[in-house]
Amino acid sequence: GFKSRVSVIGSGSWGSVAAKLVAFNTLNLSSFHDEVKMWVFEETLQSGKKLTDAINRTNENVKYLPGIKLVKNVIGDPDLDNAVKGANIMVFVTPHQFIDNICKSLVGKVRSDAEAISLIKGMEVKIEGPCLISTYISEQLGINCSVLMGANLASEIAEEKFSEATVGYGKNREIAEQWVQLFTTPYFMVTPVQDVEGVELCGTLKNVVAIAAGFVDGLDMGNNTKAAIIRFGLREMREFCKLLFSSVKDDTFFESCGVADVITTCFGGRNRKVAEAFAKNGGKRSFDELEAEMLQGQKLQGVPTAREVYEVLRHRGLLELFPLFATVHEICSGCLPPSAIVIYSEKKPRLP
Ligand code: NAD
Ligand code: 13P
Repeated sequence: GFKSRVSVIGSGSWGSVAAKLVAFNTLNLSSFHDEVKMWVFEETLQSGKKLTDAINRTNENVKYLPGIKLVKNVIGDPDLDNAVKGANIMVFVTPHQFIDNICKSLVGKVRSDAEAISLIKGMEVKIEGPCLISTYISEQLGINCSVLMGANLASEIAEEKFSEATVGYGKNREIAEQWVQLFTTPYFMVTPVQDVEGVELCGTLKNVVAIAAGFVDGLDMGNNTKAAIIRFGLREMREFCKLLFSSVKDDTFFESCGVADVITTCFGGRNRKVAEAFAKNGGKRSFDELEAEMLQGQKLQGVPTAREVYEVLRHRGLLELFPLFATVHEICSGCLPPSAIVIYSEKKPRLP
């Protein structure tokens, strides 16, 4: 019978872990081809070797997930067209700033019956307004796109420590079940929720809250302050979601993609870590500089997302209703000092 063929588009730290999870399952599920192609944005390592060659030789992403063996049936491929050839199951997992170019170069090269899932946290803001990454993929490629988000620090799942995630799906429950089957492992528990917009926006917006949490850590303000920031953040996440999509469900905020992801990221994420350093330096060193120095090629999503959220709110004249989100961007862009995070996040005058 027909066997599904999986392609993973992206090979950063989460991309590599996603490929590992999926490849563990394709080996064991008869409805899938064993091989999982993983598209690698090619680069030359300090050793002079190509990253893709290193991945395929060692079965390890030596740059973005060192020390973790992927499953043998993960095959790195630097050629995007070739990496998606014949795939009817597509997992998108790149930093969100690159998805535009990737989709553009995939137009006309994807099977019309393909199903996609996006693990990407972020959004596209065009002149016409904000666009979810899953919507963007779906519209560009003419295929359906679900999402998977959750409290998922890649390094911990790489070590097979238990965690859970949320699949957001649109109309078709069977498709959601297929994604659950493809991602679930004994240490990774996946729950489907019929709310693509809510799940995806939670994953996207929590990165802005994580930046705020990092500022609070950098200023040594303690746990109560961080808890307050998390609460303001969750409240603004809910308001923002409902502003964009009235269909978003309250229960979604209690899934892994909601409160759980906010918590893990505000304590252990990269956005938090770099924002902490930014505040410790009094905002004198830029995020770009700190990101390059501290993350060795990994990418922050919170800073561009804060800017994108700010653009959406400014355009609609709603900045006053979102003091935390607005303040995060104003600090990141150097208009306010890091200490403004507590002064402005709650106390800004609010519209009635
Ligand atoms: P990463 O930040 O670890 O690595 C950056 C990736 O970007 C690398 O694969 C690099 O090769 C690639 N890249 C650099 N320049 C590029 C270009 N011009 N075009 C295309 N690719 C380029 O990546 P990641 O953590 O796998 O992040 C992917 C998505 O997953 C992000 O939206 C992130 O928020 C989300 N996510 C990450 C984690 C995590 O813990 N790392 C967890 C959940 C979700
Ligand atoms: P950071 O990018 O801040 O590390 O967050 C990763 C994440 O999204 C965990 O779910």
